[in-house]
Amino acid sequence: MDELQGLADQCIDCKKCWDVCPVNMVTAGDIYTPQGKIGSLSKILAGEELTENEFNNIYLSTRCGACDDVCPVDIPITQIIQYERKLLAEQGREPAKTTLISKNILEKNSPGGKDPALRFSWVTPDLEIAESSDVAYMAGCWVAYSHPEIAQSTIRLLNKAGIKPMILKEEKCCGIFLIDSGHLDEIAAHGERYMEYIESLGVKKLLVSCPGCYHSIRDSYAELCRAPKFEVELTINVFKELLDEGKLKPKELNRIVAIRDACPIRHLAGVPRYILRTIGVEVIELFDGKTRCCGGPGGLKPNFPQISGDIAMMAVNRYKEVSDTLVSYCPFCMHHTEGVCKERNAELNMKDISVLLAESVLGE
Ligand code: SF4
Ligand code: SF4
Repeated sequence: MDELQGLADQCIDCKKCWDVCPVNMVTAGDIYTPQGKIGSLSKILAGEELTENEFNNIYLSTRCGACDDVCPVDIPITQIIQYERKLLAEQGREPAKTTLISKNILEKNSPGGKDPALRFSWVTPDLEIAESSDVAYMAGCWVAYSHPEIAQSTIRLLNKAGIKPMILKEEKCCGIFLIDSGHLDEIAAHGERYMEYIESLGVKKLLVSCPGCYHSIRDSYAELCRAPKFEVELTINVFKELLDEGKLKPKELNRIVAIRDACPIRHLAGVPRYILRTIGVEVIELFDGKTRCCGGPGGLKPNFPQISGDIAMMAVNRYKEVSDTLVSYCPFCMHHTEGVCKERNAELNMKDISVLLAESVLGE
């Protein structure tokens, strides 16, 4: 991929990426900048030794995309980081935790290697789930194992609007960690198998709660493998549509909240705000309306827990200045932020948007 080296060489040293990178924000000395990450490509291509800081810098990225968004010469910084990680993995140089999590996804079907028998613990008798339907709901790992209330509120809302989706009995991890870690051959094979399974069920529309699942299956599979033969839709988009059509009738909640945005769908940040406005909830912006990563993805959480946690705390500390509730629409942001607050004995009142919507529409 000399092409990526050519693009990295176009850096004009403007340092714009430095200011938006959450890793650089919480670490001193500007040693972990996005510019520095792409600057190591030639050494990695040549199989040369990296200093400890240079090596860590490659894995000190959530691949949130904030740097891509501001680079004036359009260097695909996150793509270069992904490629560097691919090369390091092939050279047997990736961090052991990254290798282990990738193995868990491929062999045990979740990043944490959780018990597959517990994946559907969120399914309660009151939820109307079809045996077969052309609409399927995929909870995803973080909802299934950490936040069952998101799936339960979602199905209740869909049921209220007359939609009875099926679930995927062989639901798999979407594999976003493999994508971020540069395990591109593995994700292509994993994605192909998963899409074939979903297509074999006759699914025409796959509803997902997680922005990571949405981006991976809809966009990354298409880039790295092939496009799915079914539509992939985010549940927040469905909720917006159902509110607009009058199929969900909200009651005003009269609250003020802060909102934690989700990097993979930062271009859709207007949708959760629309939903909250519609249910009588005022939104206070945390970072002037700009998306700032939670610090969890891309291997940051397992490999650099302190830095990853410091990034999560930026939103936690800020929301407490303006509101008593932090609303999320990403189950992984929520899982990560909650874990960090628990470790640090920090109070947190965080709710997923589906739970607030269920409160408004169903009075739950
Ligand atoms: S993707 Fe995000 S975390 Fe990674 S280098 Fe760019 S701004 Fe920093
Ligand atoms: S924003 Fe782009 S051009 Fe500017 S320093 Fe970063 S990588 Fe280089």
